[in-house]
Amino acid sequence: MAHSPQGLNGKQVWQRLIAGNMRFVQGLFQGRNLLDLRRTLTQGQQPEAAVLCCSDSRVPAEIIFDQSLGDLFVVRTAGLVLEPTSIGSLEYAVGHLRVPLLVIKGHEGCGAVTAAVAHPEAAESYIESIVKQIAPAAAQARLSGKSGHDLVEEATEQHLKSLEETLRRESRVIAAALDRGRLDLVVVKYLLHSGKVEILNATF
Ligand SMILES: [Zn+2]
Repeated sequence: MAHSPQGLNGKQVWQRLIAGNMRFVQGLFQGRNLLDLRRTLTQGQQPEAAVLCCSDSRVPAEIIFDQSLGDLFVVRTAGLVLEPTSIGSLEYAVGHLRVPLLVIKGHEGCGAVTAAVAHPEAAESYIESIVKQIAPAAAQARLSGKSGHDLVEEATEQHLKSLEETLRRESRVIAAALDRGRLDLVVVKYLLHSGKVEILNATF
C-alpha cells in the first residue's frame, strides 16, 4: 500500500481532506506560514493527493479542502473532461510523485454539464469538445425522466462515475496502481450551498 510523505495511506489522506473540508464549511481556515513553506518546497514537491476538478472559479480544491502549497497536485478542466494531456498529468502524480490518493471532484451546478444537457450538439469551436465528452452522461440521465436542475445533477453524477472507468481504461499507469492497491480513488460532488463534498464512489 502506498503512503503519503507523512506516512498516510489513501484512506487516511482522504480523512485529512475531509477534516479540511469541515474547516472550510465552518470558515475556520488553518493558518500556515507560507514563507517557510515556500522555502521548504524549493527542494521539491511531495503532494499527498492528486485531484481532478472543474475549472469553475467557485471550486478550487486547495480552498475547499483547506490545504496549502505543496499539498495537492491539481488538474482542472471545464467539466472535468479528460484528454491525453490531463490524463498524462494525473499519471505523473500517480506514477512519479507516488500519491496514494486520487480525488475526482465534480460539483453542483456545473456549467459544462448544463451545456451538455441543454445543447448536446453545441458547436462553438473547442467548447464542443467539452460538451461532446459529457453528452453520453446527459443522454443516460434523460432516461431517468428528470428535468431542469435535477436532470443536470443526475447527468453530473453519471459523468463523474464514468470518469473512473475512463481513467482505468485509458491509463495503464493508473489502472495498475489501483489494481495493486497502491492508489485509492474517491469520486465526490461538491455542494455549492453547504460547501460540503459528498462521496459518490470510493475504493475504500
Ligand atoms: Zn463545472
